Amino acid sequence: MSRLPRPDISRDGEALRSNQFGDIYYQEADGLAETRHVFLDGNDLPERFARHAGTRPFIIGELGFGTGLNLLAAAHLFEEVAPSEARLHFWSAEGFPLDPEELGGILSAITTRWPELGDWAERLARAYPRPRPGQVQIDLSDRVRLTLGFGPATEVLSETDFHADAWFLDGFSPAQNPEMWSEDLLHLAATHTRPGGSFATFTVAGAVRRSLEAAGFTLARRQGFGRKREMLTGRMPGDETSAAPQIRKLTIIGAGIAGACAAFEARRAGLDVEIIDRESPGAGASGNPAGLLMPRLEAQDNPAARFYRDAFLFARRFYGDHSPDALLAFGGAMQGETERYHRVLETGLWPDGELHLEADRLLAGAAALLSPRDAIAALIEGCSFRQGQVEAIDQSSEHITLTLRDGTVESDAVLVSAGPRSAKLAGFEEDMSASRGQVDIFAGPAPPHILTEGTYIAPLDSLLIAGATYDPAQADDVPEPDEASSAANRVAAEALLHRPAGNWISARASLRATTRDRHPIAGELDESGRVFALTGLGSRGLVTAPILARHLIARMTGDVSPLSLPISCFAAPGRFAERRRRRGQS
Ligand SMILES: Cc1cc2nc3c(=O)[nH]c(=O)nc-3n(C[C@H](O)[C@H](O)[C@H](O)COP(=O)(O)OP(=O)(O)OC[C@H]3O[C@@H](n4cnc5c(N)ncnc54)[C@H](O)[C@@H]3O)c2cc1C
Repeated sequence: MSRLPRPDISRDGEALRSNQFGDIYYQEADGLAETRHVFLDGNDLPERFARHAGTRPFIIGELGFGTGLNLLAAAHLFEEVAPSEARLHFWSAEGFPLDPEELGGILSAITTRWPELGDWAERLARAYPRPRPGQVQIDLSDRVRLTLGFGPATEVLSETDFHADAWFLDGFSPAQNPEMWSEDLLHLAATHTRPGGSFATFTVAGAVRRSLEAAGFTLARRQGFGRKREMLTGRMPGDETSAAPQIRKLTIIGAGIAGACAAFEARRAGLDVEIIDRESPGAGASGNPAGLLMPRLEAQDNPAARFYRDAFLFARRFYGDHSPDALLAFGGAMQGETERYHRVLETGLWPDGELHLEADRLLAGAAALLSPRDAIAALIEGCSFRQGQVEAIDQSSEHITLTLRDGTVESDAVLVSAGPRSAKLAGFEEDMSASRGQVDIFAGPAPPHILTEGTYIAPLDSLLIAGATYDPAQADDVPEPDEASSAANRVAAEALLHRPAGNWISARASLRATTRDRHPIAGELDESGRVFALTGLGSRGLVTAPILARHLIARMTGDVSPLSLPISCFAAPGRFAERRRRRGQS
């Protein structure tokens, strides 16, 4: 079972103390001044923030999130001095995370003590998640993003591949918390540093100095804060202004939920986005009148379990923040697998209070019914849209050229998110197939909340939506609703309702894109990192599209992915070819 240890804290005069580590989080008298001196000035952030440019965010890595004081100070400075289009990403590891309630109290105290941080403290208090093992990514503003790695620092950092501009080494003192200063961890931080990147820390302990120097940093001692004589800073060799060629324009093929989430994330990252769809936004599976945001559960702790948990929690927050009007109903229950639900809860993967068993049902309070069409409309608002069918993608020149029936389009990068038709465009004919599905709307009465047992029923205004059917199909089929599917949906709905579903109102049929292993595809298709795919979303696309879109745009812009490496590998486009290669088939 994976559970996070809780911090044991107490007030010690003016200071907040960790009883586990016999050290303080920060001094109330001058904690902010110390943060500014050691971490902000120690990394020369006032000057470096002011000259930061481009679509890649400035990335700060931190070992030891604690109360978030360093984050608040960095965000405050960034807002003051960085150019308006620049973005900050703060990644921080914490092995003993505070609960939202505990942190909320501390953030109020921080606001009282340092009112200039109040706005950021309030944003953090609002967005801070209930800790769970693994990474959680939250937005504090349009420009400032936080990724928290909950768990042992070495473990969470080794499962990421970002490169920081600056490190805040802020674990409890090396004498009390040697793990946070181990040679391995400091070496790992160094391998996660950009050329010209820096670190700063309050300690000048000999072992720490030796490890950081051996890891490749050039060290410099500076004057310490207050009564401390010295502190330590360091730089990686190299020029921090040298950057890989950046993607400026992204063309997205397909305006379903995958393309819409990617367009939203790309625009936020400062890319020019053009969306091309052979029909109109939401013409494919994402045009259903409603679909469920419901967790897919795994009874073990493995990358799939973590992925579907993270995807669900991310999606709920994402739609709530960016298309709240598309959320139509809240709260869901699953039934029929009681023994399995017990095992899911025993994994310890789900944050407290997220799921709970009541009799033989597993209740998910955060489950919701989404109107994908409304979500798409909100997410692509203001994007350039072109109707046209993409026939081919040519990467042979500096730009990528898309051939449409009525012309060509050039772009720096392309995302294939064309539902089942992605198979042909992106070369997944062997690994993807299409599945026809239908949802039906009946007069009801509507059930009080979402209920699933294989199929589902949910309240849609005063009506009842029921689904979904599964039938084999071809990628270029044009499915129409049929009576046999409506009859199947009615039978399943009435079995869940224990009463008649009411008069038939309407139905919609469409195609899912399903992969051989039933997991999605998200990542680069070529080594040059210019052609990407987000597809194969199967029967969970509304849940998985937001986090996968964030992951892809992070890869395009050098940002921190919300997915840890084991999770992103599991969605990697190359996995099918790799499996064939291992079996000696190619
Ligand atoms: C009946 C049914 C019920 C479902 N229920 C749920 C649910 O409750 N919860 C859930 O999470 N998921 C559900 N799903 C799955 C979910 O709807 C899909 O996973 C998701 O909508 C897929 O989104 P997409 O953007 O990848 O593809 P699509 O929505 O299919 O979009 C692909 C787009 O690409 C365009 N396109 C295709 N080829 C080209 C080309 N060559 N050039 C230009 N444009 C092109 C199409 O016109 C289309 O607009 C359901 C699916 C079905 C069929």
